[in-house]
Amino acid sequence: EPDPLIRPEPLPEDADRALRPQTLEAFIGQEAARANLKVFIESAKMRRDAMDHVLFHGPPGLGKTTLAQIMARELGVGFRMTSGPVLARAGDLAAILTNLEPRDVLFIDEIHRLNPAVEEVLYPALEDFALDLVIGEGPAARTVRIELQPFTLVGATTRMGLLTTPLRDRFGIPVRLEFYSEAELHEIVTRGARLMGAPATVDGAAEIARRARGTPRIAGRLLRRVVDFALVEGDGTVDRAIADRALTRMGVDDLGLDTADRRYLRLIAESYAGGPVGVETLSAALSESRDSLEDVIEPYLLQKGLIQRTPRGRMLAQAAWAHLGLDAPRRVGD
Ligand code: ADP
Repeated sequence: EPDPLIRPEPLPEDADRALRPQTLEAFIGQEAARANLKVFIESAKMRRDAMDHVLFHGPPGLGKTTLAQIMARELGVGFRMTSGPVLARAGDLAAILTNLEPRDVLFIDEIHRLNPAVEEVLYPALEDFALDLVIGEGPAARTVRIELQPFTLVGATTRMGLLTTPLRDRFGIPVRLEFYSEAELHEIVTRGARLMGAPATVDGAAEIARRARGTPRIAGRLLRRVVDFALVEGDGTVDRAIADRALTRMGVDDLGLDTADRRYLRLIAESYAGGPVGVETLSAALSESRDSLEDVIEPYLLQKGLIQRTPRGRMLAQAAWAHLGLDAPRRVGD
């Protein structure tokens, strides 16, 4: 059973607005993306035009939704939010599009999961700010074009590779979000602890930052639990000892890996002698969907150099054997 505590899917408590940065200035990290967005936002405001469509891609919990909300606020326009799987029929999207105010930001999360019929509606909307409605059936059918207000689509995806080329090509501003550095997460944790009324020491914040998998959503979630321990078992200060104790109790190890990550690594080590092993096989053996392995578990393990992706499947890197405290098997030719 994967530990939901440090899985980066949103939980209701993430609705906790207090920790969400409200301005581009207050948003920590993603320097390159932020600097570029600042220019595009300013320019759109000077031209009194809708900003060009933006596509955010990267692992969950890195701030795609947050940045989209910030964009709307800085542009001084309305923000509407939906997601690929929620837009089941073309009419669902048409209804949203026809209700937009001029220059609004429409955020579509998981845009790689749009149904093709809905995606068709999006093309003329993005290109010409128009809807093409088919009226009638058979030989009498005709197309009526409805003008829309100019708007900015902000799409978010964890899987750039699953977007169709025509959709990808309609975004003028693709933005790749990266895992956060420990220094950036340190700042995020320190600020969050202050906002929660449980100040963190430098060491305490560092301990959480180091174990947050490069992901602000996880940093926030770990911080909330550490604050619980600090209040109940300590003096309300997030220091290193409390952070370490709380995180260890939650099954978050030294590298920030949780039980699901370790199960993944152990399976490759113990059942497949370190691989290579195909992702489908891993998915079946772990009873985790392939998507969740590829979107959630693997990106961080790859980034940490614990696994490698090869054409024949996943392989453990030397660092993973060391982390698990196991000896790598000798290979023929070593
Ligand atoms: P995504 O849409 O990429 O899954 P979100 O924008 O929902 O990620 O962010 C996840 C959580 O992390 C939110 O609670 C948000 O407040 C927090 N967060 C994201 N980026 C930052 C940041 N740069 N600084 C502080 N908190 C952040």
